[in-house]
Order: sequence, then structure tokens, then C-alpha cells
Amino acid sequence: MPILRVALNIPLDTLFDYVFDDASRNDVGLRVCVPFGRKKVAGIIMGVCSSTDVPLAKLKSAIHIFRETPPLSKELLDLFAFCAEYYHHPLGLVVTNSLPAKLRSNQPVNLKMKSHAHFVLTETGRHVDVSKIPARNTVMHRLLTQLRDEPSLAIQDARQISPRAVGILDKWLDEGWVKTVSVAEGTREEPEIPALTSEQSVALDTILEQFNCYNCWVLHGITGSGKTEIYLRLIAQVLAEGAQALVLIPEINLTPQLEAVFRKRFTVARIVSLHSGLNDTERLSGWLQAQRGDAQIILGTRLAMFTPLPKLGLIVVDEEQDSSFKQQDGLRYSARDLAVYRAKQKGIPVVLGSATPSLETYYNVSSGRYRYLQLRQRAVKNAVLPHVECIDMKSDKPANGLSRPLIDAITESLSRRQQSLIFINRRGYAPVLFCPSCGWAAVCQRCSSRLVVHLQDKQLSCHYCGCRESIPNACPQCGNLDMMPFGRGTQRIEEALTQQFPAARILRVDRDSIRRKHAWQSILDAIHRHEVDILIGTQLLAKGHDFPNLALVGILGSDMSLYSTDFRAGERLFTQLMQVAGRAGRASIAGRVLIQTEFPGHPFYQALCRHDYHALAETILAERKIADFPPYVCQALLRAEAHSLSKVLEFLTAARNLAQSRENVEIFDPVPAHMVRLKGMERAHLLVQSRSRKAMQLFLTQWCVQLNTLTAHKVRWALDVDPVEF
Ligand code: ADP
Ligand code: ZN
Ligand code: ZN
Repeated sequence: MPILRVALNIPLDTLFDYVFDDASRNDVGLRVCVPFGRKKVAGIIMGVCSSTDVPLAKLKSAIHIFRETPPLSKELLDLFAFCAEYYHHPLGLVVTNSLPAKLRSNQPVNLKMKSHAHFVLTETGRHVDVSKIPARNTVMHRLLTQLRDEPSLAIQDARQISPRAVGILDKWLDEGWVKTVSVAEGTREEPEIPALTSEQSVALDTILEQFNCYNCWVLHGITGSGKTEIYLRLIAQVLAEGAQALVLIPEINLTPQLEAVFRKRFTVARIVSLHSGLNDTERLSGWLQAQRGDAQIILGTRLAMFTPLPKLGLIVVDEEQDSSFKQQDGLRYSARDLAVYRAKQKGIPVVLGSATPSLETYYNVSSGRYRYLQLRQRAVKNAVLPHVECIDMKSDKPANGLSRPLIDAITESLSRRQQSLIFINRRGYAPVLFCPSCGWAAVCQRCSSRLVVHLQDKQLSCHYCGCRESIPNACPQCGNLDMMPFGRGTQRIEEALTQQFPAARILRVDRDSIRRKHAWQSILDAIHRHEVDILIGTQLLAKGHDFPNLALVGILGSDMSLYSTDFRAGERLFTQLMQVAGRAGRASIAGRVLIQTEFPGHPFYQALCRHDYHALAETILAERKIADFPPYVCQALLRAEAHSLSKVLEFLTAARNLAQSRENVEIFDPVPAHMVRLKGMERAHLLVQSRSRKAMQLFLTQWCVQLNTLTAHKVRWALDVDPVEF
């Protein structure tokens, strides 16, 4: 009888064997329902074989093989195996966690899909009395308008109006107001395709010359240099060859605008967008379209890395330096690194685009592993780089945090009816509640983090675990009534700016203000319609958005990152500031960037003022080489947590003692994490590093086996290979 080797969603580093009489090797990659304990669970068939080490008497029979969806390809199963091995994570978890939720369930999937339908109004629909629909049903009104004005409405476009739109269209379908047509009938606008700049042409041609083999291209282009245009041209080539393209984007960048850019260019291609905002059905539908080869372009965040793509011809990773490509729990993978693996596996090009490539990537360029292409100029005619200046804050410390030159510059912007953006570096700069007489500061009860003051709802909140409490009237330690928010968080700056510019329209954008669904989109719309004069924001505003009327960027609080204990803080800040600076003056307006700093002579700011990525990259790399930091070594972190810190440290010490000393691998002492307490757990870690990746991997494999024997400690642990956050 054939034996199925099944990957299950069970945290054990093994596959599970089952017998099933009606199975063949062709079933590898299919979903299967099997008994596990008293439950029925779903898994993926990783292999079909004729023998097993499990005694036959103990072997259970599988219940059902689901054949309604195609099997996962060998290629994808190989990718999973690589992940499990490289990240030392149980294969079953790797496989099941990368599947859409519906494929993880033990139920057959419902394949009623109309994800590429286009809707048109029927005769009945045309004669609907619009005035009978209540005005507050804005979605209905917008849908009807679109259906009347356009030849047809694609379901993706409907979804952009509102997530409820699909439900409404469904109802109208039943009522006979609309009908579906299979293709976009009528015409869409011909896309406008700009002539490439000479730099763009060179980059594009270089990649196209070697388009049918593996190469990792680093496309280093300043903000506004037209990297997107190069992606679009490459994708056009992919489509012409009948292949598929995968485009990975940081979480925050996947806005409807970007999707719209793609749809506008590729009017007939099927584009699927995969991100965390989708419901289970939408995700499954996107996945299946990709797997069947129906979808030609897949636009997604890191999880999209695991999409089955039988005809994959190109992978693009935009903003490759972005930390959101690294998963921070479970399988701690780097989607960027996996993109390179997958491209190599498939023999296709991968393009890593960035205005400020990560130092790991830059290092791979200098060692010749990756190939380098540069765009130094902005693509739009006459657009120039903003002028970056430092304002020396050492001598002048204004009470409200706003220096004279910054106030003057904002005044000037206002008088020209241009927008200003005040960027506040949040890291280490959030307003905490502070008692000036005794020094007490509000701290989270569950984490060791300071609580952040939210004046509007008179609350203190923890930005790590989400705890909230109200602001005390007096200092709990000394009774002082004159409590002060310390540090200039976004809300305080808003106050200062409001006082300074009472007539200006000011908008603050941070995690709190975009939490509401669709808030982000309406904020972007408001900015574009120039309903805002001064924007106050954190890193959220730094990335990937074009604000044509933005002339001035003020940067506050960036000094904190220069002296951080995190060796990556400087690199991150540089990226962030280059991005924010890139917001200024993208179209015809000459932009200006003012940085308030106490260290205007720091090499960091000097490089920033000259827009000199290379100088900074070289400086940081030299420092890292001396200090033995990545990319000169590879690292792995054994993370552990429990209810008491001593337990965690005990476990880590035992783990350290288990590790046999070996050449080429260095094992450090356990240390409490930077955030010791998080969500009620105490956390610590142990760093392992080596100059040889191979030595490191060998060590980790053996060590993992030993770690699994340390069961007495009741500690949760995980290995983080190539950690980016400590
Ligand atoms: P990046 O992604 O490198 O920051 P974008 O791709 O967003 O830059 O391009 C910036 C702007 O330049 C966009 O508005 C884009 O439409 C425009 N653009 C790109 N290439 C060209 C070109 N060859 N000619 C004119 N405009 C261009
Ligand atoms: Zn006090
Ligand atoms: Zn907390």
C-alpha cells in the first residue's frame, strides 16, 4: 500500500506517515485530510513511498485526498525544504503557514470564483431610480456612477471603491441590475508610456540582454529616478514571453495607487494583489489564479514570496532594504533573500530596487555576487534633488522645539501655497509622561517600555504590547501636580505648529491616525487635493508616495538614532531620511530639507547633505568590518521567553553549555533583550556568529537537535537566522 509522507501544522521537526490505497506519486503536492490524535487535520503530501520506519500496526490511514486544486509544484516544495533547513524551522510549519488559510483547513475549498469578472448594467439596471437609494449608501452611488460612465467595471476596480462593493454587486446580480461579461468590453485608455531617460535605457537594456538566466540586479536609483518605469518595461517583456512576474513591495507601499499604476499600464493582463488586507476568499482566489498561470502579475508583500508561479519569469523586490521583508515571528524568513534563492532556482533575473540599498546588498555588489545598475538623475524633466541643510541646535534650544530657520521656511512655503512636511523620528522620541520634580516616568506594567502620552484621549499607551491607562492627575511617586509630557512626539509638535501657524491646515499622520480602515487612502487624497498645508508625520510618510506640491521637509529628532545601541540604527536612519528628503520637490518645485541637529558636523549628516550614499555606505562598512558585524559575519539569535527572566537566562546558559566549542563559530553570553518584558513575558537571547555561513549552518543543525532535549525549562524559544532586530 502506498505511504504518504505528510507535512502537518505541528511544531515537530518531522513529516507524518499515513497509508492510503488510492494514491500515486502524482499526488505529491496535494492537500490531504488525515487523523491526528482525536482530530482530523489537513496537510500537504510531500512524498509518496512504499516503505516507512513506522511499524505498520501503528500506521493510520489517511482520510481523503483533495483533488480539486492542483498540486504544489516540486519547485515550491523545494523552496519550503530550503526554508526549513536554512531557518531551522519545522518543515510542516513552513509549508502550512505559507498556504492561504482556506487550504490549511480540512474542508474542501469552494471554487465558485468570479475574481476576474467584469460587470455591466442591464436594461433594468439602467432604469433604476437613483433617488430611491439613500444618500448615505455612498458605495452604491459610486458603483452606479462608475457602471454608467464606464463601458464595464472590473471586480478589482469595484473592490477599490470599497470592500463591500463585491457584496453589493452580488446582490444586484441576483436582482438583475447587472450582468457579468468575461473580458473588459469596450476600451480602456491607451496607457501613456514615457520615453526613457538615457540612464533608464542603459539599465533596462543591460537587464534585457540577459533576461533568460539568473542574475541578481541591484537597481540603485535615487527617489524619483524612475525605477518603477524600469520594472514596468521588464514586466512588459515578461508578458510578451507569456510568463509571470512577481513584484514584492513593503507592507505600507502597497496602496491602491501603485496597483492603479500597474493596471493602467497593463490593461489586459490579469494582476493579482496579495497583502494582509485580504480576506481568506480573496487570498485563495489570488493564489489559485497564480497557480494556474492565469494571473500574469503578482503584486504582494513578503508572504507573496510563497505563491506558486509555474511560469515565473522575473522577480522584482522594490525597496529591498525595507525591514518589513523580514518576518519577525514564526518562520523568520527574509523575503528578499528568498527572492534571490527562488530566482536562482528557476534561472530567472531578480531585481532589487532601492534608493538606499541595504549594506548586505551593497556588500554583495562589491564582492561581485550581485550586479549593480545606477540611476543618478530624477526622471522627470527639470526635477532636481532637494537642497539639504543642517540647522545647528546646540546654541539655540527653542522651548517649542521649532528653530527660527525652520519657522521661516514654513512661513515661506505657506506664502507660496506649497506644502511642508515635518518629519519626526519616532524611535526614542515618543512623548513619555515625566515628573520634573522627582524624575518619575510612566512605565508599562507588562513591558519595561515607557508609556507614550496621547493627549487627545487623555491616555497613556504602550506601543509594544498595546496596554492603555489614563493619565494620572499627580505624580504617583511625589504627588507633584505639574506633570509634563517629555520629548516632542508628533502630537506635541502639532500643538506647537498650531500655535505658530494658526491659519494653516495641519494634518498629523501616524499609526494612530491611520488605524481606521481607509483612513490612509483619504489622507493621501487630502494631501493630493492640497487640503493640507503642513503635514506632521513619522516614517509612514517617508515611503513611496508622490506629493507633487511638497516643497519643504523639516526633520526633527534624528540625533537619537546616531547614538543608539543598535548597530543598524544609523543605516536605518539614513535610509529613512533619504526617503523623506526625496519627498521634497519631486515635480517642478525645487525642494528644501532642513535637519535640526546638535551634531551638524557628523559624517552621517555630511553625507546626507551631499546625497552621498556611497560615502556613508563605505564608512559604515569599514566600521562593521572592524567591529565584526554583518555583513562581515553571519549571525543567528537564539531567542527565548518565559514568565521569569531567571528561567530564561537559565535556559540560555544551558543552551550555551550544550553547544560544543567549535572552530569558526563564536557563541556569546545570554543577555536580556532590549525590551526585556513584552506582553507579560520576559525575554532574553543568545547571539551566535561566524565568518563562515557553512560552519554556522552545520553548528545550528546540531545545536537545534540538542536544544530540543532541553525540555525541563518550560521556556519558549526560537532561532532567528540573520536577525535584523535584537
Ligand atoms: P522611483 O521609484 O525611482 O522613486 P518613480 O518610478 O516613482 O521613481 O518615478 C518618479 C516619477 O517620474 C514618476 O512620476 C514617473 O511617472 C516619472 N517618470 C519615470 N520615468 C520617466 C521618464 N522616462 N520620463 C518622464 N517621466 C518619468
Ligand atoms: Zn514626582
Ligand atoms: Zn507594554
